[in-house]
Amino acid sequence: MSVRIGTDVEVAAQKLRAGELVAIPTETVYGLAANAFDERACLRIFEVKRRPAFDPLIVHVRGRAQVDELCAEVPRIADELMRAFWPGPLTLVLPKCAIVPDLVTSGLDTVGVRHPAHPLAQRLLEALEFPLAAPSANLFGQVSPTTAQHVVDQLGAEVPYVLDGGPCAVGVESTIVGWEDGRCVLYRPGGIPQEALEEIAGRIDPAQRRVLPVAPGMLESHYAPRTPLVLGDVDALLAAQRGKRLAVLAFERPREAHALRVLSPRGELAEAARALFAALRALDASGAELIVAECLPERGLGRAINDRLRRAAAARREREGSSGPIA
Ligand code: AMP
Ligand code: MG
Repeated sequence: MSVRIGTDVEVAAQKLRAGELVAIPTETVYGLAANAFDERACLRIFEVKRRPAFDPLIVHVRGRAQVDELCAEVPRIADELMRAFWPGPLTLVLPKCAIVPDLVTSGLDTVGVRHPAHPLAQRLLEALEFPLAAPSANLFGQVSPTTAQHVVDQLGAEVPYVLDGGPCAVGVESTIVGWEDGRCVLYRPGGIPQEALEEIAGRIDPAQRRVLPVAPGMLESHYAPRTPLVLGDVDALLAAQRGKRLAVLAFERPREAHALRVLSPRGELAEAARALFAALRALDASGAELIVAECLPERGLGRAINDRLRRAAAARREREGSSGPIA
């Protein structure tokens, strides 16, 4: 099977109706989509991504009204957040209805829902009779795709159609919130800054309850290039590792190195988020022995970027069984 890239929403819709997978553009990253009500199609997502069955899928909806088909209960604050940030990079984890297959939610009694902002994704969802389960269109644990070509490079022949919507405008995954004892909690920092959510929801703490039935730390390593990555003070790391072929992932300021990506010479967090995953891919392909990355300011989209970099660094420590420098 050879992969086809195109911009034809009707072709994508027909394949999805036939139970096939389609990679779709969203404003965050490209998703690997299937009919969320078709258990066999959703099982294929786990197979193609080599994703463990304990990691639930986010369900993409065409708007607020479709949430009522999927969710048994919508807290008032959830509604306010949807009104303020949808369509956009915000996922809400809410009690699910029986119509949502257990496979999609990994057996949890909640489902993550999101209304994406990308115009092609919206046209597709409006053409379909069902919502789309769609995790990022990459192999489990690796760097998320922000262009159609990234999807082809990694999943190649396993995806019958890639709907090409150009480079992703946000570039990091959605922010995920849920509710614990009636309080809004954060599962994952992402494309909507926590500060913006807190203007509506009040203070949002990190989730306390473990959602996934896995040992702590298992999902700490993620978003990882194949080249080992260390996170910390780039200048100190460059000095300490002299003699090695080093690739540098910098925020604003260039450095002398075997390979270099500067995420935002203007020091803008949104620009840095857009550039992040493509930069990681480029540095991974540069032939460097080690990627040296620096933390961004811990505010706004900087939190989502730092979260992804910490997980990429955790993957290296896990592989090497060492505890390298981490800022
Ligand atoms: P992604 O791979 O970017 O689609 O992200 C999916 C992530 O959403 C999962 O790894 C979970 O962290 C989170 N998620 C999805 N559904 C749920 C749920 N029902 N409860 C808690 N977290 C969820
Ligand atoms: Mg993912």
